[in-house]
Amino acid sequence: MTLHCDDAAPAGEEISGAILRECQDCGLFQRVAALAEGDVAHCRRCGANLRKAHLNSLNRATWCYIGAFLLLLLAMQLPFLDLRSVGRTYQATIFTGPAQLEGHNMWEISVVVLITLVAVPCVQLMLILSVLLGLRMARPPAFLPRLFSWVAGLRPWSMVEVFLLGAFVAYTRLQAIATVEVGPALYALAGVMLCMVAADVELDHQDVWEAFEAKGMKAQVPPQPQHGYIGCDCCHLVVQARERSRCPRCRSRLLRRKPYSLNRCWAMAGAAVCLYLPANIYPILTLIRFGQGQPSTIIGGVIELAQAQMWPLALLVLMASIVVPLFKLVALFTMLVMTGDGSVTRLRDRTRLYRFVDSIGRWSMIDVFMLTILVALVRLGFVATVLPGIGAIAFAAVVVLTMFAAESFDPRLMWDAASEAGYDLETEGVEAHRAPGPRAQAGVA
Ligand SMILES: [Zn+2]
Ligand SMILES: [Zn+2]
Repeated sequence: MTLHCDDAAPAGEEISGAILRECQDCGLFQRVAALAEGDVAHCRRCGANLRKAHLNSLNRATWCYIGAFLLLLLAMQLPFLDLRSVGRTYQATIFTGPAQLEGHNMWEISVVVLITLVAVPCVQLMLILSVLLGLRMARPPAFLPRLFSWVAGLRPWSMVEVFLLGAFVAYTRLQAIATVEVGPALYALAGVMLCMVAADVELDHQDVWEAFEAKGMKAQVPPQPQHGYIGCDCCHLVVQARERSRCPRCRSRLLRRKPYSLNRCWAMAGAAVCLYLPANIYPILTLIRFGQGQPSTIIGGVIELAQAQMWPLALLVLMASIVVPLFKLVALFTMLVMTGDGSVTRLRDRTRLYRFVDSIGRWSMIDVFMLTILVALVRLGFVATVLPGIGAIAFAAVVVLTMFAAESFDPRLMWDAASEAGYDLETEGVEAHRAPGPRAQAGVA
């Protein structure tokens, strides 16, 4: 069941009490009704997902994360693709590609691949498992909330599922060169992805924060009504406190908006634009077969796939590598300019656009992962060799910079700018409140 906030509590079992929340996408303070099993609460102004309720979510998520962690350890040990040609077999683990790229003086890509495929998923799983298992103790260690506050920030940089799609593209391209066999690590990685998706669906981070509170791990700080309400960006607790003081629950700094949000976003998006051209002009790889080969750019790769009649793959790479980065940049600049101008047009749609841009960016890494796998496996000397091209570094930088740009943009500033321009936010969305004080905004009687 989908609820809009400030709706009456549904009949049936209530598993969480009504709480005051600030929407992270539009900045509206609102009361989230008590939820029953399976309910999802949405912001009534911009539609953002505020809360979902699952019974025993911590328990089920713990098992999913344990499964993901064990499978990830397995995937790191086993070969993920075998390539057979002229009587020889070449095996690659997930570390072979980064090692080969390092040998070609492309350590930048090795670092990005190792961080997004190995380091971040490992650290993320270790942190979350320490927290979930620690919460089962009678007196959990005091540093657990701090550990958990890092988890949400790591999530976009964990790219196991993107790697799997890159592996699929590489597998299809390799079949044209030699016999390829899928190794056990690829199945293990698919298992990691399924476990992580199941855990993400199951676990609402709010439940973990409330579990800390239930264990008495929230600092008792008296409310300071003179400072008004402020919502914690990390654990979403709403408190009456001074800006830049520490959140009593997660110990993060309390900030009304992301600091220097627009400036940081302009800088990152601007740098990404500068690199977008070299990323598309310079070759990302060269396939040399029997001593002959032409360097191929990103669009060249798409054309090759299309010429080989692999239309779905050609479309996939075209979307992920060319359309998505361009769309992200255009969307970010549109949002930046409109926010700077105090535009009041289509606030709800722009907030939705921001959520979309923020979620799709990581999928552009497909080509980088595909290149890593090709370089790892195609080392057949005179018969076939794949060499990485300089365009790949520029391309990986574009993807990383646009991800940072989207992360630094604070969508609440779009609503602030419209409000400052004198726009009546009542007319946007469903019966939004507009009042000077957060108390009135929150609809607290
Ligand atoms: Zn909202
Ligand atoms: Zn907090």
